[in-house]
Amino acid sequence: MESGTAAKTTDTSASGDGAAMETIDVRNPATGETIERLPVDSPTQVAETVARVRANQADWEAMGIEGRYHWLGKLRDWIFDNQDRILDTMQRETGKVRADASNEPVYLASIINFYGAKAAKFIGEEAVRPSSALLASKKLRVQYRPHPVVGIISPWNFPLILSLGDALPALQAGCAVVIKPSEFTPLGLAEVVEAWKQEIGAPDVFDCVQGIGETGGALVDNVDFVQFTGSDRTGRKVMARAAETLTPVSLELGGKDPMIVLADADLDRAANAAAWGGMMNSGQICMSVERIYVEEPAYEEFVAKLTKEVGALRQGPDASGHDAEVGAMTSPNQIGIVEDHVDDALAAGARAVTGGKRVPGPGDYFEPTILVDVDHSMKVMRDETFGPVVGVMKVRDAEEALRLANDSRYGLSGSVFGEKQRAEGVARRIECGAVNVNDVLVNYFASDVPMGGWKESGIGYRHGEPGIKKYCRTESVVITRMGGKREPTWYPYTKGRRGIVGRLAQAVNARGLKRRLGLRS
Ligand code: NAD
Repeated sequence: MESGTAAKTTDTSASGDGAAMETIDVRNPATGETIERLPVDSPTQVAETVARVRANQADWEAMGIEGRYHWLGKLRDWIFDNQDRILDTMQRETGKVRADASNEPVYLASIINFYGAKAAKFIGEEAVRPSSALLASKKLRVQYRPHPVVGIISPWNFPLILSLGDALPALQAGCAVVIKPSEFTPLGLAEVVEAWKQEIGAPDVFDCVQGIGETGGALVDNVDFVQFTGSDRTGRKVMARAAETLTPVSLELGGKDPMIVLADADLDRAANAAAWGGMMNSGQICMSVERIYVEEPAYEEFVAKLTKEVGALRQGPDASGHDAEVGAMTSPNQIGIVEDHVDDALAAGARAVTGGKRVPGPGDYFEPTILVDVDHSMKVMRDETFGPVVGVMKVRDAEEALRLANDSRYGLSGSVFGEKQRAEGVARRIECGAVNVNDVLVNYFASDVPMGGWKESGIGYRHGEPGIKKYCRTESVVITRMGGKREPTWYPYTKGRRGIVGRLAQAVNARGLKRRLGLRS
C-alpha cells in the first residue's frame, strides 16, 4: 500500500467554494481518535511555496554564518520555552510515551548549537596552496555555497528530529528549506514553522507543505537538493524522480540492526541495553536492535535476563507522568507489518518468550515481544520489522555472529557487547555505517561523527562535517595575483611559445633529472 493512503480523504466542504479538496486525517494512535483534518498541498501550491522561499534565500545566504545562527539560536530558545506544548502535540500525533517524546527538543537544541559552533570550520572558505609550481602565481580558494532550496521529506517515527533536525544544518548553511512531513505526524512541525514565521519573526526561508506521495514528488521536482528519510521502497522512487531533474539526494533509509553478545559480556548491561534498544519508541527506530546473536555459553542467561526486563515493561497511553515505557505504534500500516513478521516466525517454529500479540483496542499497541528459535529464513530476521519485536539466536562463536550480522541487505548500524578489546575488534567488522561498543543507539546523539547507511540503508550522511557540507556546492575560486597582457598558453600558438610551455610542463611533471630536462628520448 502507498504510504499513508489510509489517512487521505476528499472533503467537499473544506474548500469553501464547494470544490473537492483533498485532506489528511491525523489520528491519535494511543486512542484511535481523529484529532485534526489538514488540507493537502497540490503540486502547484508546492511550487509556489518553493518559489517564495527561493526568492528570500540570497539575503539569507548573505547574512553569513553568525547572522543565520542568530535566528537559529532564537528557535532553540523558543523550543525550550515551549517544550510542554511541543511534547503534548507530539504525543497526540504519535502515541509515544512522554520520555521517548522528550528526546526530541533536546536533540534539536544540541544540533543548533553544534552546527552554530562548527559551521565556520566545516563550510568556511578554504585557502589551498597550489601543489604545482605552474600555478604558483594563482591564489586558490574553495567556498561552500548552499543549494538554494533544500526539500526534506520525512517519516513519522521522530516527527521533529527527522524533519527539523535535518533542516537545521541546511538553514545554518544558508539554504532555504521546505519540509514535507509524514502525513501521519504533520502537526508538530506545522507549529514550529508557524512559530518561526510569527512568534520568532525570522526570515521567510523555512516552510512546510502537507500531503502524501504526490506532494512529496512535487517537492522533489522543485528543489535543488532532496534530503529523504523513510523506507528504502519510497527512497528508490524519490531517487528515480530526482534523476529526472538531476537533483542530488541524500537518503536515510531502513535498517535491520544486529546486536552481538559475546560470552564475556556483562550480561545485565547487555540485556538491559537490548530491551531499551529494541523497545524504545515501540521499536520504531531505524536503528532499533532488531536481531541479536549470542555466543553459546551466554545464551540461556542472556535470554532469561532479557525476557525478565522486557516482560516487566509497562505499555499504554502515557500523559506526562511516565506511566508507561512502551507507547503505541504510530502508523496503522506498521502494526500490520509487525503482526505479519511475528506470525510468520511463530508459524515456522519460533517461540515468543514474552509478548507476541497485538493488544486489543482502543489504540494501536503491539506487545513488547522477544522471539527465540528464530533463523534467517524468517521475515523477522531478514526484513525491517520496525516494531517492539526482537529475535534472538544462539551462535557458536563471534565468527558465526559476524557472518549472520552481515547477512543482510541493510547496513545502518549495530552493536557489540563483550570485553572491551574483543568487542571492539568484532564491532569494526560489522558492515554498517555506525557501531556501538557496549551501548546501543547512542551514536545518533554523537553529532560529531557522521551517521549514514551502507548497502540499502541509504546514500549520504547526517551529522558531523558531511551533515552540513552535503547542503553545499563547492565553488573553487582561482585568482590571478599577477600576469601580463597574455599567458604563455594563450593565442597565438607559435613554435617558440609552445616550446617553452612544453618544456616547463615537462620539467614540473616528469620524474628524474634527465626526463625533466627532456634529455631522454
Ligand atoms: P515511507 O517511506 O513510507 O514515507 C516517508 C515519507 O515519504 C513520508 O513523508 C511519505 O509521505 C513520503 N512519500 C511517500 N511516497 C512518496 C513518493 N512517491 N514521493 C515522495 N515522497 C513520498 O516511510 P515511513 O513509513 O514514514 O517511515 C518508516 C521508514 O523510515 C522505515 O523504513 C525506517 O527505517 C525509515 N527511517 C530511516 C531513518 C534513517 O535515518 N535511516 C530514520 C527514521 C526512519
